[in-house]
Amino acid sequence: MRMSIDQAVELIENASLKELGEMATKRKRELHPKKVTTFVVDRNINYTNICWVDCKFCAFYRHEKDSDAYVLTFEEIDDKIEELLEIGGTQILFQGGVHPKLKIEWYEELVAHIHNKYPTITIHGFSAIEIDYIAKISKISIEDVLSRLQAKGLASMPGAGAEILNDRVRDIIAPRKIDKDIWLDIHHKAHKLGIKSTATMMYGTVETNREIVQHWADIRELQDKTGGFRAYIMWSFQSDNTLLKQEFPEISKQSSNRYLRLLAVSRLFLDNFTNIQSSWVTQGSYIGQLALKFGANDLGSTMMEENVVSSAGVKNEMNQNDMITLIIDLDEYPAKRDTAYNILERF
Ligand code: SF4
Repeated sequence: MRMSIDQAVELIENASLKELGEMATKRKRELHPKKVTTFVVDRNINYTNICWVDCKFCAFYRHEKDSDAYVLTFEEIDDKIEELLEIGGTQILFQGGVHPKLKIEWYEELVAHIHNKYPTITIHGFSAIEIDYIAKISKISIEDVLSRLQAKGLASMPGAGAEILNDRVRDIIAPRKIDKDIWLDIHHKAHKLGIKSTATMMYGTVETNREIVQHWADIRELQDKTGGFRAYIMWSFQSDNTLLKQEFPEISKQSSNRYLRLLAVSRLFLDNFTNIQSSWVTQGSYIGQLALKFGANDLGSTMMEENVVSSAGVKNEMNQNDMITLIIDLDEYPAKRDTAYNILERF
């Protein structure tokens, strides 16, 4: 029988770490019996840091008038993609702030430019809040934004912006961000158009354990309907340089223990998700490695460039060889994958 919300809360609060690791590993083995741990070689490209949404937990955004505000030129984007190709990369995680003025035509031209010039690169881009605002400013529907970008070469969508799918929490940490139902609806619409996506969660601000589990229940329900989520990824709030930390100084840094507990319970609760990524970017490489013993089967990206988490004071780095070493160290088999989780190379 499916795990209930009450059962998941009970596990988070009362199960031992050892017990959680064992249960999550058992479930992981059912889904991934060959002990293969994957990763993708990609690059984050944040095409702009200009954003009007002003989420209180975000240290990345700037306003148009700020001296360090930017929108990358096509040439700058090309240079970044060429560096990625040199190291055998296959994907760009392409997202930005929510620019107040850019409309659908600008995005179409950009996606078409990348797709036509670099056809081997998968464009994994634009979170639900960007899609929502492009629709609003361009006065077209969400479906039109998605299908027009898909026609130009958008392959899949990251799950960013989910934070906690609860409007009480969202009203505190990101009052101008889209509501929970809109986030879910945009992913639903993307899935219906054949655009796969990922589901994410950022915890560690003002949410309760029950709100965390309700977030899992909502993405599990959508996954039941569409099967369109390729993976689940969660990370903890990184507080440096954020307004939220100034407003709520009592918010404390989340422990590695809590990360591993939540990860393990997510593996058990999200019974219709095949892939769960470890977030070594926020947790550090060794907790990222340990996450493989708590339900994660993928180390995510090698992250050639990361701007969002590092703006909040956290800088972790790993290249392909570091990942391979960590995976072998746990007696698993490393493999490079593409965005769709097809294996490209084994080591
Ligand atoms: S999290 Fe995204 S939407 Fe929110 S302020 Fe930062 S860049 Fe803007």
